[in-house]
Amino acid sequence: MNISKAARKALIPIEREISKQPVEHLYLLNKTGKILSKAIGTAKNVNILLVPPDSFIATHNHPSGSRSLSPIDIYGAIYWNLREIRAVTKKELCHLAEIPKLDIDKKNKCLSITEKYIILSKCGKDWNLSLYRKMRKELKKSGGLKFRTIKLSKTEAPSIKFNVFSKLWNKLLSKF
Ligand SMILES: [Zn+2]
Repeated sequence: MNISKAARKALIPIEREISKQPVEHLYLLNKTGKILSKAIGTAKNVNILLVPPDSFIATHNHPSGSRSLSPIDIYGAIYWNLREIRAVTKKELCHLAEIPKLDIDKKNKCLSITEKYIILSKCGKDWNLSLYRKMRKELKKSGGLKFRTIKLSKTEAPSIKFNVFSKLWNKLLSKF
């Protein structure tokens, strides 16, 4: 497991919210779960122009309900030295890749593997689970990347609940 308990907690409300959105939203978080950057894209993609150097985790949603991360997702995560990339769907699934710290050789090897699958997925061949499986196998072998699909957590962190509640409370009070 790459990410801290605090980061994992911070991801819960973000991913629950973005999983319902009709367009892609991307969040970059640091090691402790602090949000560093946020971007909103279209139904099919999202771009981020600036990746702060202490970015550790990227999470975003796939409104199309894809059954995997895309090779571009993984390429970006490796390129920017992220340690975890996650994509959530409307069905509240989260596809994730855990990326170990890669030395420059391993990083380049993994980037070129991912590039190959980006090209394959754009050459008329649809991105499908069998290609995903092959790519995962190669990335695991060359860089030790780990892939998983998990169900989004239903429970909200208590501190977040409190925040939501106090916001509501302030709203109510402001009416008087
Ligand atoms: Zn994606």
